[in-house]
Order: sequence, then C-alpha cells, then structure tokens
Amino acid sequence: MIEARGLTKRYGDKTAVKDLSFTVEPGIVTGFLGPNGAGKSTTMRMILGLDRPSSGSVTVNGRSYAEHAAPLHEVGALLEAKAIHTGRTAYNHLLALAATTGIPRRRVDEVIDLVGLREVARKRAGGFSLGMGQRLGIASALLGDPKTLILDEPVNGLDPEGILWIRNLLKGLAAEGRAVFVSSHLMSEMALTAEHLIVIGRGRLIADTSVTDFIERASTGRVKVRSPQAARLRDLLAGPDVTVSATEEGTLLVSGLTSDRIGQIASDNGVTLFELAPQQASLEEAFMELTGDSVEYRAPARTAERSAA
Ligand code: ADP
Repeated sequence: MIEARGLTKRYGDKTAVKDLSFTVEPGIVTGFLGPNGAGKSTTMRMILGLDRPSSGSVTVNGRSYAEHAAPLHEVGALLEAKAIHTGRTAYNHLLALAATTGIPRRRVDEVIDLVGLREVARKRAGGFSLGMGQRLGIASALLGDPKTLILDEPVNGLDPEGILWIRNLLKGLAAEGRAVFVSSHLMSEMALTAEHLIVIGRGRLIADTSVTDFIERASTGRVKVRSPQAARLRDLLAGPDVTVSATEEGTLLVSGLTSDRIGQIASDNGVTLFELAPQQASLEEAFMELTGDSVEYRAPARTAERSAA
C-alpha cells in the first residue's frame, strides 16, 4: 500500500509535483496516468526515497522508504527501461543482487521461472532485447517478494506479445494481494490493465477513479440502433426529450433513451434489431478531454490542425 499526502516537489522555481494525495490499495493494479512531463517519474522517485519531497510525505506499507529495515522485501521497482550493461548472465546478475540483500539462491530460481527467463538465464544480460531486459528488471523487483510493486512505463517499446505478458503478470501479482502501481501515458493500455486510476497533469491530481467509472463517464449518452424497420422504430421512439438521427440506411443514432428502453420498445412492437450499442467516446479522447489544459508539451502539428479547423 502506498499513501501520498500533500506530496510536493520543486526543482528551483519549477514545481514538478504539487500537493498530491492518493492511496494505492493492495489487491489491485492502480494505473498512474498522465501526459509526458506530468510528474509521474518524480512521484515514483519520491515513493522510492530517490528524491526528497519539498513538502508533504509518502509512505509504503505504513512507513517512508528510508525507515524500512529491508526495503527490497517491502517494495520492488522497475524504473524506466534502460539497457543493462553487464557481462554477467541474467542468473548471476540476480544472484549478485540476492547475495547483497540476504535473499536465498532458490528465490533466484523462482523469479527466473516466474518471468519466463529460464532458457536465457545463462546468457549474458548485456545482449538482451528490450523485452528480455524488462523481464529481468521485473525479476529483480520481485526478488524480495515485496508486497508493493512500482513500475514506470513498463510496456514502453515492447511488442504486442511483451505488452500482453506484462499486463497479465501485473494482474496476477495484484490478485495475490500485492499493491501494484504502474505508470503510463496511454489510457487505452491502462483501461486493459488497471482497476483504479490516479490521473495527474502538470503535477496536480486530476482524477482518482475506478476504471469502470472513467469509462462510464466517457459515455456520450447516445445509442446506435440498426434495424431493417428503422423508419417504423424511429416513429415509435419519438418523444419530447428524444432525438433520433439517421446516419445511414437502416441505422439510427438515439439520445434521450437508454439501450434497455429502446430494446424494450422494439420488442413490444415486434421490431427486429440487428444492433443496439451505447456509444462511447474513445478512451484516449476522454483522457485528452480530462487532461486538456495540463499537457505540457503539445505537438505544434496539433495547434496547426486546430487553427485550420
Ligand atoms: P513524467 O514522468 O510524467 O513524464 P517527470 O516526473 O519526469 O514527468 O517530470 C515532471 C516535470 O519535472 C517535467 O517538467 C520535468 O522537466 C521536470 N523535472 C523532472 N526532473 C527534474 C530535475 N531533476 N530537474 C529539473 N526539472 C525536473
């Protein structure tokens, strides 16, 4: 469990993180979402005691990182992906790490199997692909069997297979009762991985919400209906607060009625439906809407697009 209270970090006159309070609960994956430059890495570094808060505090499993006698058993971290420059094999890399922290050799074997590195464990880690490197990084984070895990953009640069693997691993680790805190700048990825979301922009908290609620809020309130009797259905649905537009032959876009109600009206009147679908804004659209003004570096092309529109 991670608890941040009024967490603030200033670099000179630049405020990277401002008055951030949130809780990362055990048993679920919590996504830490925000555009690039929002302050995610800075926050994670403060959680891990790598950076001192200017004010406020953050604890892991009830204490600040520095107060833990054996931090590797409390929290495992995977910070930004970087190449591992070592002549050691993956196995020896983990063994060395384990030895410095009094972790037994059998745990090294366990984590190697857990992350699927068995076949390459005796190969030099310096020659690993990004995906293999991430697996090794996660193995290191898991060595102390920590109750809390922190991962900074773990899927960046991975292929679809690697992304799927990490997604399932994180869900599995959370299901074992661990608190899993994972950052990303991609809403679509977080929607598939996380159960809860902490969203920040320009260092400030924008949303603290379940993924389900976030997706629900992205709902446009419109329902798409496809029927071979579209004209008849359109008459049946008409009402004072209902708007129906026909987008293409046989397709209606309805606002003011739920999909349940539309289905019921169709059924009561013997109208066949081919499709009945509540419409959602895409998650990226909803995320951009939410973080709108807080994006620090907006690509110039977007501004040009906007003024051209
Ligand atoms: P994110 O991880 O969300 O991309 P960061 O935490 O890396 O964001 O950065 C947040 C802000 O703090 C950015 O504006 C960044 O330039 C600034 N920042 C981060 N680290 C430093 C530092 N060591 N010195 C000065 N500014 C920094």
